[in-house]
Amino acid sequence: MQITGRTRVYGILGHPLRHTLSPAMHNAAFEALGLDCVYVPLPVAVDSFDQVAGGLSGMGLAGFNVTMPYKEQILPHLDDVASYAQIAGAVNTVQCVGGKLVGYNTDGRGFMAALERDAEFTVRGVQAIVLGAGGAACAAVLSMALSGARRITIVNRTPERAEQLAERVSGRFESVEVSVASPHEDLSVHAAAATLVVNATSVGMLDSPGMPIPAELLRPDQLVVDMIYEPRETDLLRTAASLGAKTMNGLGMLVYQAANAFEIWTEIQPPVDIMREAARGALAEFEAARARVKATTA
Ligand code: NAP
Repeated sequence: MQITGRTRVYGILGHPLRHTLSPAMHNAAFEALGLDCVYVPLPVAVDSFDQVAGGLSGMGLAGFNVTMPYKEQILPHLDDVASYAQIAGAVNTVQCVGGKLVGYNTDGRGFMAALERDAEFTVRGVQAIVLGAGGAACAAVLSMALSGARRITIVNRTPERAEQLAERVSGRFESVEVSVASPHEDLSVHAAAATLVVNATSVGMLDSPGMPIPAELLRPDQLVVDMIYEPRETDLLRTAASLGAKTMNGLGMLVYQAANAFEIWTEIQPPVDIMREAARGALAEFEAARARVKATTA
């Protein structure tokens, strides 16, 4: 890759960004298509975000992603926001056009593409349980509502957040019935009817291991999706697979949301398989680095 004054620069704003897979995916795609573009991590400290975001339109970026914890905080700095991102109240992709910043949210499309293409799962008419009520849960609930899910039960530790998410969806989509439940109540009625279980909480991440739902609620006829991709197999996915359920981690969603962002920026069909391979390769490098640290500290 040769970077010159003509190279179009893309990036990702977030904090921390040490484990982001986005540069690997986008740079692999640019290289495969011979595009004079580069994608770089742009870590921004929490107390500097508004100052940095206020100057983004003048920086000459061609586009950028926004990740945790800034997907909501970026909104007042944008000139226009696509309708789906407005409903979600969060933006993860920004296109820079003629000095204006236009925001999109590709997480929901990423989630739906992973369900449909990788798991070959049809959402229309299904009943689902979504664990969590943050940005990832919002992407899952909104995209499933848009795709004609029949009933979605949102289960979250903090009930107010679940209620807020349910209110965001209810009334906008006629076909779907959204309800809220507490993780402390008996969820067996909801689980018995659900053929899709989605973990959109942080429970299961490397620094937060554990099960986000009791194993008794999982069944062999369910598709169990964990949005987490590091580790590749969480306790939830391992348990679900051992019970005969179909499982899928969050890597596909991550790849498809990136592919959708790539298409918004370049108007070129993204090389999804190349992006997926690049994400897997970067993930394997993180895993190897972690194993080395573990070995030296053992
Ligand atoms: P977020 O907005 O911070 O939401 C976190 C969610 O996890 C909230 O519902 C929170 O519940 C819940 N939670 C956290 N710790 C918990 C605990 N100890 N017990 C029970 N619930 C707990 O984060 P997010 O952006 O939605 O991300 C959520 C997960 O999705 C993360 O694992 C993230 O890596 C993953 N994700 C994946 C993709 C992908 O492309 N694959 C994209 C985005 C996110 P409270 O409301 O009670 O705090």
